[in-house]
Amino acid sequence: MLPFLPFTRPTLDEETIAGVGDVLRSGWITSGPMVRELEAKLSALFAGRPVRVFNSGTATLEIALRLAGIGPGDEVITTPLSWVATSNVILTVGARPVFVDIDPVTRNLDLDAAEAAITSATKAIMPVDLAGLPVDRDRLYQLAEKHRLRVIEDAAQSLGSSWNGRPIGTTGDLVSFSFHPNKNVTSIEGGCLVMTNESEAKLAEQYRLQGVVRSGYDGMDVEVLGGKFNLTDVAARVGIGQLARLDEFTRLRRDLAREYFQQLDRPEIHALGLGLPVADFTQSNWHMFQVILPEISISRAEVMGKLHELGIGTGVHYPAIHLFTLYRGLGWHMGDFPHAEHAGRNILSLPLFPTMTATDVRRVVDALHNVLQA
Ligand SMILES: *Cc1c(COP(=O)(O)O)cnc(C)c1O
Repeated sequence: MLPFLPFTRPTLDEETIAGVGDVLRSGWITSGPMVRELEAKLSALFAGRPVRVFNSGTATLEIALRLAGIGPGDEVITTPLSWVATSNVILTVGARPVFVDIDPVTRNLDLDAAEAAITSATKAIMPVDLAGLPVDRDRLYQLAEKHRLRVIEDAAQSLGSSWNGRPIGTTGDLVSFSFHPNKNVTSIEGGCLVMTNESEAKLAEQYRLQGVVRSGYDGMDVEVLGGKFNLTDVAARVGIGQLARLDEFTRLRRDLAREYFQQLDRPEIHALGLGLPVADFTQSNWHMFQVILPEISISRAEVMGKLHELGIGTGVHYPAIHLFTLYRGLGWHMGDFPHAEHAGRNILSLPLFPTMTATDVRRVVDALHNVLQA
């Protein structure tokens, strides 16, 4: 029996593990020099823009909304096909998420639908680069400028992706990343926000830690209500080790995605009627490789169970958010966003992580063939 192949796994090297040991022995383990070093490295990666790190991508998004001044009475346009954090944070700050359907090809927010949903209460648009495939940044910022909206890029999945040769995060308005273990680069938990100027970064620091502003040896004041969102130095050290390998991870993921397309191009696989992702090998970081299962007699849960029996892990990213009980209670219904609902019911993430091999990809595709043809 071959070893179990999970749908993802972090790649942590010995240098990073040793570095974490050094931090633990250093006498300072919460936010300190490692956080500042990680922020400096991220800022260099994002063309010198101000960057601050937080203890999750969710906190990062919430702080982005606060920086944009979004609260009660405001609307934020977003996608129903994302991790539920994307819209939860809009509710957390007291604003109203306004979902629009996805483009069934890219599986990202349909920007025409987004423009049609703009009202006088719309303050921001929050797109997600699902699986790392970037939303059209030209059209996005054209739309934002025309309607004077802030953009909060939920780029949790697109670190290492680019648009027209420009890495995500190097341009644009507020750009939020996550370092959750399933993301391409991890700090165990964590995230970072790229901002537009230093005063936003100062305010983000206040929101990050109880609103506290220090001066001199003993000065302390609190002007705004902050929370507890700081990243530890232990976590930051993991992030530093990971960031050094971002380009390598992206390259390996793209190679594996190419291998998937080759394997899925076999005639007997074609016949299964799987919906494939966009074959983009220059812009996407291939955070995930997701197929849409055909709506046949075998359910997605059964497919996942049978693949599990064959030693292959899969994931669902994601059920459509507006159909969760909380969101139905806020007024959304089945049928509101047919493309997102179809994807939400049938999408399946196949194994993809940097230490996988072409043989592993073949094994996944063979197993999928076995399960679906039966
Ligand atoms: C992972 C993720 C988040 C949240 O990040 P956490 O670090 O888990 O809080 C938000 N949005 C999207 C699209 C994500 O994939």
